[in-house]
Amino acid sequence: MNADSISGARKHCADAPEIADYLADAETFSTWIAHYLSGSLDQMPVTPRVRPGALAAALDVVLPDEGAPLRELFAEFVRDLLPGVTQWNHPGFFGYFPSSAGPPGVLGEYLTAALNQQAMLWRSSPMASEVEARALDWLRGLLGLPAAYTGVAYDGGSMANLHGLLAARQVVVAGVRTWGLTCARDIAGYRVYASAQAHSSITKAVIVLGLGEHALCSVSCDRDGRLDVEALREAIATDRTRGLLPIAVVATAGTTSCGALDPLADIAALCREQGIWLHVDAAWAGAAAMLPECAPLFFGIEQADSVVVDPHKWLFTPIDLGVCYFRNLAPLTDALALQPAYLRHAEDEAELNLMDRGIALGRRCRGLKLWFVLKHYGADGLRARLREHLRLARLFADAVDSHPYLQRVTAVGFSLVCFRAVLADLADDRTDVLNRAMLNAINDRGAVFLSATEVNGRFVLRCAIGHLRTGEAHVALVVQEIDEVLAVLLEHGAP
Ligand code: PLP
Repeated sequence: MNADSISGARKHCADAPEIADYLADAETFSTWIAHYLSGSLDQMPVTPRVRPGALAAALDVVLPDEGAPLRELFAEFVRDLLPGVTQWNHPGFFGYFPSSAGPPGVLGEYLTAALNQQAMLWRSSPMASEVEARALDWLRGLLGLPAAYTGVAYDGGSMANLHGLLAARQVVVAGVRTWGLTCARDIAGYRVYASAQAHSSITKAVIVLGLGEHALCSVSCDRDGRLDVEALREAIATDRTRGLLPIAVVATAGTTSCGALDPLADIAALCREQGIWLHVDAAWAGAAAMLPECAPLFFGIEQADSVVVDPHKWLFTPIDLGVCYFRNLAPLTDALALQPAYLRHAEDEAELNLMDRGIALGRRCRGLKLWFVLKHYGADGLRARLREHLRLARLFADAVDSHPYLQRVTAVGFSLVCFRAVLADLADDRTDVLNRAMLNAINDRGAVFLSATEVNGRFVLRCAIGHLRTGEAHVALVVQEIDEVLAVLLEHGAP
């Protein structure tokens, strides 16, 4: 729609009062969103000040019979619901892995919702099928994956991991589609190998695939949280002698706890030698592969059979979007393709029917928002933002290293720093108590938000940098918050 057609639409609205109302509502929403995303939310606490259930208590228990105008509901939203929002779009959000939704992605979602496309068949939305394919192909190129890979959009890393492993199972367990796992009576069991630091979605995938949780072989890691390749080799050898059949090896590029990068090239070589499917979970850190200075760290990823990267983590795309790249799509479609009569489509090979690439039939159009994000920032803009996050993480790590009471627990993992407060003569379990109290106090104050994990059995804080608007001042604020909270805790003789 060009400027003329927008003014035509305005005139049409003026002639049709019910549309004019929606236009006013849309303007209210958009104005609020524009202010929110460009900084009004910075005045709000990052984490809400609500107790469990308090929000629900403010909501109607019974749905009113009569509908209400959107402007009234908007006021209710601001009054009753907004106080319960954890501000993922706040530049002081350093918890988990930040998901930073900037204007291009949010506005892309706005159009996506308005268009309400069902991306199951090419016929059901040529735009959704083709924009997804093109945007995922751009992303593939940015990440340095060879052109042979085809990306498939899912709702996040967990589903993307599940589909990668589903394709692996299809290759190894011949007949599984028809007969289930019982088809291989001579097999003692199956194995999926992943490091002890792999994300819990790998365990879930193993459960969902019917392999049983015990099929997941948790391989030990070195001190930096990287999978020990010799331990992997030994585990595979031992399992083979016991009649257990490997389904896949999962390598993690950027572990959730500490951002560690498994030795991809060595793992890839072992998988090639053993003829085992290699799945790389690069859900968060994969984005960094687009930086020439980081690309060598990912060497070996181009040998994987499937690779997961989540644009909704470190690529400024609103939740939800996780992608699995498949070197060869056939095992996935062999596992899942079905054509019930009501979905049979024209036999035109050029039609891209995405329903055969996932468990769900109904698919959101996730490609459009990514298209907006990638085109708006451009490759250079994305790289500059990621590079800035890496720089800020190093700044924060330096502040930790030079702090009298803080200690870094692992190497900086891309833009993630793991640390804890350590006091002379304080036993490990009391140190855990101190750090837990410190985390709770920092998060209760609401200026910044951090999360936690365990490293070698000890409670550790995580500062993950990934927000579009996070700058040096926000990183300095984390240090200031730590200092102020520690001062109070120490004054009270804690723990
Ligand atoms: N893989 C890794 C390495 C992760 O860190 C996460 C989540 O943090 C996931 C997979 C799961 O992603 P999602 O929450 O999008 O399902």
